[in-house]
Amino acid sequence: MADTLVDRYQRRIEYVRLSVTDRCDLRCFYCLPRGYRDFETPEHWLTFDEIERVVAVFTRLGVHRVRLTGGEPLVRHDLPVLAARLAALPGLEDLSLSTNATRLARHAEALRRAGVRRVNISLDTLDPARFRAITGGRLEKVLEGIEAARAAGFAPIKINMVVMRGVNDDEVEAMVEFCLAHGFTLRFIETMPMGETGRHASDRYIDLETIRRRLARRFELLPGMMPGGGPARYVQVAGTDLRIGFITPISRHFCATCNRVRLSADGTLHLCLGQEHSLPLRPLLRDGASDAELAAAIRAAVARKPERHEFRERPEKVVRFMSMTGG
Ligand code: SAM
Repeated sequence: MADTLVDRYQRRIEYVRLSVTDRCDLRCFYCLPRGYRDFETPEHWLTFDEIERVVAVFTRLGVHRVRLTGGEPLVRHDLPVLAARLAALPGLEDLSLSTNATRLARHAEALRRAGVRRVNISLDTLDPARFRAITGGRLEKVLEGIEAARAAGFAPIKINMVVMRGVNDDEVEAMVEFCLAHGFTLRFIETMPMGETGRHASDRYIDLETIRRRLARRFELLPGMMPGGGPARYVQVAGTDLRIGFITPISRHFCATCNRVRLSADGTLHLCLGQEHSLPLRPLLRDGASDAELAAAIRAAVARKPERHEFRERPEKVVRFMSMTGG
């Protein structure tokens, strides 16, 4: 019987978001500055052996879900090899991936074979020119990646859209139609003041309740459910299988049910997306700590997990860009 990780607010930590690189091949304006080059050096990235070891310790502490993220996780060489090693760990029940899908066409099958079951794909617009303006990249590549994910049998496929006023809020209905047509799940996300970029984008912030009300005029929305244990609140479009999730860190935060911690590419364990509390695991790993010592350090860190973020009260607080922590 595995141990459990419970923090001082009685929240059970069962989910690790694992960033395998802080690098990304896109430059979404609300995430990473154009021309940004101040990335972690590869010697500081945890190796696959180190990642596998840390995840194994987490599984013995009752973590049974891991999501590969970044940066863009598919920028990390040989990601399917790492995925296969993690999927084989006893106790790990759910291995998933968050990706911008630019490189998914090449890797979807190998990831599926490796044991990744579910993918979340970031897609803020269906318009190629707008996609280029938001991300600096090519929409066509992403659409190919999404198609490859479907062909490889990932299910469910969730499309994540950061909804921003005057940027893409006119596309929410089009995105609903797109997801209906392809059988995807759709999630809308509120803009968070992560790093300078996120703070600048905060003037584009929209409370998703306004989007829900707008959609309710066009679609019949029923209360919905979605397995997966995340923070989204779901509705279902009547007469269809489409589920739409609303992720509202700003207008209605969900910290009381937070079940996760984040491990960044350099081996820093972040206890809250919106606070600086962290534990550097890399020195422990490289100084010969035993598994029992790693487990004890993780337990002590989880005991310090903050009650909640303060994106609203103190938006200046988080200096890290989203891609550094592992979004
Ligand atoms: N590259 C992968 C991807 O695109 O899914 C994983 C990392 S990315 C940082 C994870 C998610 O964070 C993306 O959906 C992205 O849109 C979102 N994100 C980045 N900065 C954000 C911000 N300031 N507010 C809200 N979401 C943000």
